[in-house]
Amino acid sequence: MQTLLRTMIGSTPELSGQTVKLQGWVKTKRDHGKITFIDLRDRTGVVQCVGYQLLSDLTTESVVELVGLVKARPEKLVNKDLPTGTIEIDVKSYEILNVAHELPILVEGDGKEVNEEVRLKYRYLDLRRERMQHILRMRSKFVRELREALYAQDFVEIETPLLTKSTKEGARDFLVPSRFQKGKFYALPQSPQQYKQLLMTAGFERYFQVARCIRDEDLRADRLFELTQLDVEMSFATQEDVITTMEAVVKQAVKSVGAKLKDENFPVINYSEAMAKYGADKFDLRSTEEKAAGVLAFAWVVNFPFFKKVDQADAAEVRDGKSGWTFTHNPFSAPLPEFAADHLAGKNTENIITAQYDLVCNGYEVGGGSIRAHRPEILRATFKTMGYSDEQIEAGVGHMLKAFEVGTPPHGGIALGLDRFIMVLAGEESIKETIAFPMSSTGRTAVMDAPSEVLPEQLVEVGLMQLKKITKLET
Ligand code: ASP
Repeated sequence: MQTLLRTMIGSTPELSGQTVKLQGWVKTKRDHGKITFIDLRDRTGVVQCVGYQLLSDLTTESVVELVGLVKARPEKLVNKDLPTGTIEIDVKSYEILNVAHELPILVEGDGKEVNEEVRLKYRYLDLRRERMQHILRMRSKFVRELREALYAQDFVEIETPLLTKSTKEGARDFLVPSRFQKGKFYALPQSPQQYKQLLMTAGFERYFQVARCIRDEDLRADRLFELTQLDVEMSFATQEDVITTMEAVVKQAVKSVGAKLKDENFPVINYSEAMAKYGADKFDLRSTEEKAAGVLAFAWVVNFPFFKKVDQADAAEVRDGKSGWTFTHNPFSAPLPEFAADHLAGKNTENIITAQYDLVCNGYEVGGGSIRAHRPEILRATFKTMGYSDEQIEAGVGHMLKAFEVGTPPHGGIALGLDRFIMVLAGEESIKETIAFPMSSTGRTAVMDAPSEVLPEQLVEVGLMQLKKITKLET
């Protein structure tokens, strides 16, 4: 006899009268004496299966394989709420592939009533719920559409290193000790900023990457240690070019997941005007009705001040802004051309405007970028304004200055914060709802319990502990 191939549940309504093999999870079970009903779930849907003197030993969320006859339901038993509601499966035989014992959390419902630590500890179960499946599948579709839109415009996807040098983007670095060069450290990238610029020097002209960025910041509902960006850079591009290109890419991707836009052309608002009007550089342009209808209201914010006074409570800012001045967004940005002379002369610091642009949606900043300094004296002047000595500049960004002396085209780019973007698209309030395995609010990893202790030998190996200390520990 020919072995039966697996049928996906979503296609069962067209197979009335046929014998099929289904594989999936027991979503629910209802025992009625001799007859047992289960709802079986796979990635394509849910179907009712009926067992006569069968199935009663199954437990919810167990994995089963079953063979049965697809039967049309009599008119009055059709379930209009279920895509497979016109049929049911008359089970002939089944096999339990994996038994689900007592479940630590329920898979039904939206899960928001469950304690966060518990949800994340059993994230593999939590992700089975319909809401989480929907969000992560939507995320995948959205990212795919972003990629397609960029490929169609001649962008190249290129990966950049994770073990690197401090990227100076305003957050605290995560450090990784080097085993080969004891006492030295790598930094995990706060973003691919410098490498993407070097790819412009390298002549790729149009780069993108779905990039992981790692920043040791204080945790909030919309900020974690790790984030994913759609990171983009373009050569020979003006601010107008970046904005136009990205607006088209964003529109294509949000529409692909069914979003409705308030404005087809995103309004462009000056930073000073936004501050005067909304008291913030991110704002929500939707009316109450638009909010209820789930509309997306995008806007660009432009003409930001380049520098600000250091916030003494922010350790990374204090470190970056040695003179008491630090950058507002990105030290690699360029001043607007009309401020270049002041910038080079270190004058008028508080009034210098940078070619920085942010993308705002429904009250959140979902992206930001700038036209960059591509001439060495401009970048050097930025660090001088922040109080760096020539030696410190050389040690920090000497490699960039060197690249700017071998034919670097003018360039600019942007990064979209994908976690936050998906959060807005999904109408969620925490970015954790958009990430498969996010950290908890106390910085513990999902499922696997990190940070965790390591063996003293490992600390010795990476030069964080000396051998004699171990001897002491052991005696
Ligand atoms: N590197 C910047 C960031 O991570 C984005 C950019 O300017 O492209 O915020």
